[in-house]
Amino acid sequence: MFKRIPGTKDILPGEIEFWQKIAQTSRTIFKVHNYHEICPPLIEEAALFNRSLGEATEIIRKQMFIIKKEQDTYALRPEGTASVVRAYIENNLDKDPGFVKLYYMGSMFRCERPQKGRQREFHHIGCEAIGSYGPEIDIEIIALADNLLTAYPIKGYRLIINSLGCAKDKNELNSLLKERLKDKTGELCEDCKVRYGQNILRVLDCKNESCREIVEQLDIADSYLCPECKGHFNKVKKGLDILKIKYEVSPNLVRGLDYYTRTVFEIKHPDLGPQQDALGAGGRYDNLVKELGGPETGAIGFAFGVERLLLAQGQIQLDKLEDLVYIITLGDPARDKGLELLQGLRKAGIPSDTDYENRSLKGAMRKANDLGAKFVLIIGEDELKEASVTLKDMAKSTQEKISQAKLIDRIKSSP
Ligand code: AMP
Repeated sequence: MFKRIPGTKDILPGEIEFWQKIAQTSRTIFKVHNYHEICPPLIEEAALFNRSLGEATEIIRKQMFIIKKEQDTYALRPEGTASVVRAYIENNLDKDPGFVKLYYMGSMFRCERPQKGRQREFHHIGCEAIGSYGPEIDIEIIALADNLLTAYPIKGYRLIINSLGCAKDKNELNSLLKERLKDKTGELCEDCKVRYGQNILRVLDCKNESCREIVEQLDIADSYLCPECKGHFNKVKKGLDILKIKYEVSPNLVRGLDYYTRTVFEIKHPDLGPQQDALGAGGRYDNLVKELGGPETGAIGFAFGVERLLLAQGQIQLDKLEDLVYIITLGDPARDKGLELLQGLRKAGIPSDTDYENRSLKGAMRKANDLGAKFVLIIGEDELKEASVTLKDMAKSTQEKISQAKLIDRIKSSP
């Protein structure tokens, strides 16, 4: 028997309704903020990600699913931003309309050790605003993340923000960290020993206890930020204050990818546990569009992990299911009429089904009950002769005979 690959999941009926609810709510909220959906491919040239995320990042070093085909090396996308920026440039969206607000939903792939909230195929709901350096768009993006969570609804999350500064400031921060951690490398965890040489910023958000103790004593605050980046960050914070969005500033929030500059943020939720506590994260990437061959222009985005949203799902309420009409027929001639009525109900947009297994009336009624049908239609010999149906209201335990011609109106008019 075949089994699914570790770190992947079958999303089954019963669970999928929560996914649909999250997707529908997201689409509504994105629309309200004037974001438009984009659907890039799941597979891209591997080099796109190497170039965007950075060779030294953990995703590129260890987690990409690589497919080699003759001379070409492809990768299953580990995240959405690089693909969206590639699509923005390739489809000339940088020329017309220039400034775009896009969102996407779909699978991402990272070859990680599977555990709660960490899969190899997982799903992002993300968005990107490309074409502006203005702090107003940072504020909009963070407010959009907050509005999405309110709409799902998910409560009890924390928004953490920081600024990494421009490319020059990031270099400054790198040097500062190299200097301050120089004598402490022996006390760092094994991963951070590697990070010290390759991607030192990641030491700042390491979850290992002894690394955290060291980081807490570094006292870097925002000393590496140039006046322009400090000004930008102050405007972002002021905007969030005006919108009454609660946030915490943490100098240890760095985000591991090379493309991030200036504002970065993360949304944490206590229900996810201490190791994988982020519902979503994002930030500015003001150099990436140019890096990938487009114009010099600012951009910012974020992504939520849908699996993580669902771990906080206790709070997400499903809408009431559509009422189902279940048709039970007795005998072959009634069966033909039943199929005809079923088609009519479905064409009228009424969710409906029938018993395909020729059960007894009792067995078919039990099935209707299991399916939670609101109405059962029974068609036997009498009903056939009279061109009527027996309509049972399952909740009220009442029944009436009505003409087949009036069936759709009767069901549509029921509260
Ligand atoms: P990242 O691109 O790593 O910042 O991811 C953004 C969000 O995607 C995270 O905050 C998580 O909610 C989610 N995420 C990232 N990696 C995984 C994974 N392996 N499994 C499930 N969710 C993930």
